[in-house]
Amino acid sequence: MGGTGGIGAMTATAAAESEALATLHRVFGYEAFRGEQEAVIEHVVAGGDAVVLMPTGGGKSLCYQIPSLVRPGTGIVVSPLIALMQDQVDALRALGVRAGFINSTQDFDERRVVEAEFLTGELDLLYLAPERLRLDTTLELLSRGKISVFAIDEAHCVSQWGHDFRPDYLTLSLLGERWPDVPRIALTATATHATHQEITERLNMPSARHFVASFDRPNIQYRIVPKADPKKQLLGFLREEHAGDAGIVYCLSRNSVEKTAEFLSRNGVEAVPYHAGLDAGTRAAHQSRFLREDGLVVVATIAFGMGIDKPDVRFVAHLDLPKSVEGYYQETGRAGRDGLPSTAWMAYGLNDVIQQRKLIQSGEGDEAFRRRAASHLDAMLALCETARCRRGQLLAYFGQDPEPTGCGNCDTCLTPPETWDGTIAAQKVLSTVVRLQRERGQKFGAVQIVDILLGKRTGKVIQFDHDQLSVFGIGEELSEGEWRGVIRQLLAQGLLAVEGEYGTLVLTDGSGTVLRREREVPLRKEPPKPVTSRSASGGSGTAGGKGKAKAAVVELPERLMPAFEALRAWRAEQAREQGVPAYVIFHDATLREIVTVWPSSVRELGSVSGVGEKKLATYGEGVIGVLAGLGGSTPETAPDDDWPELDAEPEPDWE
Ligand code: ADP
Ligand code: ZN
Repeated sequence: MGGTGGIGAMTATAAAESEALATLHRVFGYEAFRGEQEAVIEHVVAGGDAVVLMPTGGGKSLCYQIPSLVRPGTGIVVSPLIALMQDQVDALRALGVRAGFINSTQDFDERRVVEAEFLTGELDLLYLAPERLRLDTTLELLSRGKISVFAIDEAHCVSQWGHDFRPDYLTLSLLGERWPDVPRIALTATATHATHQEITERLNMPSARHFVASFDRPNIQYRIVPKADPKKQLLGFLREEHAGDAGIVYCLSRNSVEKTAEFLSRNGVEAVPYHAGLDAGTRAAHQSRFLREDGLVVVATIAFGMGIDKPDVRFVAHLDLPKSVEGYYQETGRAGRDGLPSTAWMAYGLNDVIQQRKLIQSGEGDEAFRRRAASHLDAMLALCETARCRRGQLLAYFGQDPEPTGCGNCDTCLTPPETWDGTIAAQKVLSTVVRLQRERGQKFGAVQIVDILLGKRTGKVIQFDHDQLSVFGIGEELSEGEWRGVIRQLLAQGLLAVEGEYGTLVLTDGSGTVLRREREVPLRKEPPKPVTSRSASGGSGTAGGKGKAKAAVVELPERLMPAFEALRAWRAEQAREQGVPAYVIFHDATLREIVTVWPSSVRELGSVSGVGEKKLATYGEGVIGVLAGLGGSTPETAPDDDWPELDAEPEPDWE
């Protein structure tokens, strides 16, 4: 179709563009492209290579699905996530897209069917794991069919520095040599410049266009609280703000994963563990329950989560400090893909800092590796200790411009922490460390230092005669928790360091400047009362004056809740019958819009975002039937002033 002149080319592009848009409307039922989607799709449909950086929930899938549908041939999607391929394919089939996968979970006959469909041009999309793509038999199969586009999902798996490294990704560079005329699109939610470079080089995509979306996730509320009794704090957070919600709790060790899952279950929160120590069957079963059930909590190590595209994960909680800002951002990003208000909550304390510093020192790797790990941790600590907007700090870390006045939807914006002059307190801590070392030649950990400052005659204090030190009892003005806060912040600021297997405290180059009074040490006061999403989130409509929370949606008016619940129940039944996750039928966001619009006919239902041609045909009657059963027309509008009461209402029963 493309002419040679400028006008011809433009017409070709315009036609492709409108075909893409028509596909968006018809197949996906969405009104408009989001952010960079349109530019990416236009570029790939026209045959260009693309490297796409977009946050989780940003809408990466459409960037390769639509080109696969618009261009002739089958789109080949390379994805490391064998366990999720079935769900991905189910979700596409529910939209009427001809999708399939080839992986090790299939038997010979199943595979043959898919191969035949590919060869006869009956597939729009074919999912493959990289280790399969590498095989000669697969390459041979692919060369006998017609390929529209290669999509390389989770492209950061090519990076040897990340924890998701997959050696098989390295062989993907051959795609460009073997199929020079097929466009390639690499996608990731990992935002750092270094990873970006690595993807481009290792996948051999020098002429790719680069698309970098905004990494802001405005519907996620970021909160980091001081750690006291983490399991209890978590339980309180879940009960108060996320009763009955689906979410992920991250812990560092398998042991704490098991214990936390058990603790939650014992306390009435349905939770299952997930870590690499469980056998594959259990892991798959827990993952599948998480995707299929409403409101299950998964307690996991970082082994869980990549590629989980469950849209209604309402919270991600960290009970241990992630090793880097990248990790934190990836993990928290799994919340709220549907754009509805969600919470990223973390409990963080002194032991986290000590533990992580110890891990780095005693860990494997050469000096360069350790330095890199330490700088990652420093950035993470800076995020934890900042008195400024957390979102701003995150965006700045990824090289993007934050809102100068703060985001209005993180704990530091909602309740700005007070700072205090901690110079004298810092000097007291540092002098204690100095005294122990100079006068006694000893090194101790934080517990002993705090006991000495508080003048506590514990067994260990008496054993070492530490009550004879001149610093004994000089810190009675602060509580134990406050002293731990001081030490934590000194560690975070590099004014104190951790050494050896026992995590003893030692001075750094910076300590001297504090001891010699050459600098001040501003410290952050631990917030007295925790912020809760209910009082804080823009979603509840009670943001109280200064919060200008950006969460895109408002809570449903109470009068519409019964209809929403009825639709959810109907959806659960459909999902059970078909053996697919509920969100494959419709997302929560779509159900909310349905009850808000209250369509009276199948045709009218078609205008709701997220209702495409196929879904309308499959479920249209069903949805209209449910609404009709509730009275047929939208309930009387209640006066606005019954909104605040929403907060006082208990969560609807979700079982
Ligand atoms: P990612 O893969 O980048 O994490 P997804 O492709 O899963 O994100 O998209 C996230 C969510 O946003 C999905 O629920 C998807 O259906 C929805 N979505 C994507 N693009 C659009 C759009 N243009 N309009 C409305 N919803 C969209
Ligand atoms: Zn903020």
